[in-house]
Amino acid sequence: MTALITLTGVNKYYADYHALRDINLTINTGEFFSLLGPSGCGKTTLLRTIAGFESVSDGVVMIGGKDMADVPANLRPTNMVFQSYAIFPHLTVAENVAFGLRKSEDLDKPTKAKMVEEALTMVGLAGYGNRAAHALSGGQRQRVALARALILKPKVLLLDEPLSALDKKMREQMQVELIRLQRQVGITFILVTHDQEEALVMSDRIAVMFEGEIGQLADPETLYRRPNSRRVASFIGKMNFLDAEVKAVVEEIDVTVQGLGRLKISAEQAPEEVSVGPAVAGIRPETLGILFEGETTDRKLVDGVVDEVVYYGDMTYYDVRVDGVAQPLNIAMKNLIGRPVLDVGAKTRVIWDERSLVLLK
Ligand code: ATP
Repeated sequence: MTALITLTGVNKYYADYHALRDINLTINTGEFFSLLGPSGCGKTTLLRTIAGFESVSDGVVMIGGKDMADVPANLRPTNMVFQSYAIFPHLTVAENVAFGLRKSEDLDKPTKAKMVEEALTMVGLAGYGNRAAHALSGGQRQRVALARALILKPKVLLLDEPLSALDKKMREQMQVELIRLQRQVGITFILVTHDQEEALVMSDRIAVMFEGEIGQLADPETLYRRPNSRRVASFIGKMNFLDAEVKAVVEEIDVTVQGLGRLKISAEQAPEEVSVGPAVAGIRPETLGILFEGETTDRKLVDGVVDEVVYYGDMTYYDVRVDGVAQPLNIAMKNLIGRPVLDVGAKTRVIWDERSLVLLK
């Protein structure tokens, strides 16, 4: 893996508002990288500093080994696709895509036409060139915007919430197509999104941002299974939080967790700086279970009472009260054949496993 983009000590102020706080980040060639975080955390600002639409107040942005400080947006090896499709409705599809070539005056007409058709094929719109852009669906418009951004084969494609205006089904389809497209062209994609599922599905690595800072940077599985803080854990998926007390840190970590008792976990289930004293333990709802009649388990069990039931068709989410735990435990169960949906008030047994527990800051 070779580094393509390096941000070192990047800070951005809007007047006295500190929008980016000491960002240090490396993005590799050919990587699908996402900036994920709640509204206002600074992800668009970060993307725009890479594009050159915003200057940095402090720090260095390098692309391809070159300092970008004095390189304006139009001379950077980047191109951007926006949330609003930004296509011209009165032009044809081909004319819209050819707009991406407006600065390539040295190219003759047949070459341009060939490049347009290639770009349209890439995004699944071969043969659509003569259609009027205003007659396209939202998903098709977004493909036209993509074709226009890709036609000059930039080193980096910057995508600012490109799918957020699409309905759920179209968004899911475009996610798969964007992944395919990125693999096919091998260009580095940097995606801004506030949708954690979208980031998990699409990315090689994700930077989770809060209040201008990167909270955690990791691959999707690590982020989900080993979040480094409560806020990352609750932003990405659901997590039960239980008060805990670390008793000893040797090779393993000896800890008591409210409702579950004393147990040992491995060092990789805890932050590096873990020490003896109060802590918080996290357990994902789908790593807990309910023992239904006729089923057996070799995992641990604790008694509980169903407090709330939310039926999703394929899944049921239960809140189950367990003695000694302040908040009911949220448990996600697949609705397998023969499994009843339990009622509120039902006595039940909760299945748990210390291997799925993480200690959090
Ligand atoms: P969203 O998902 O809502 O777009 P975001 O994470 O992309 O959020 P940014 O657009 O980067 O957030 O904005 C980060 C912060 O900087 C916000 O508090 C925003 O109000 C502020 N901000 C952004 N642009 C400017 C500007 N040009 N002038 C002043 N403040 C700005």
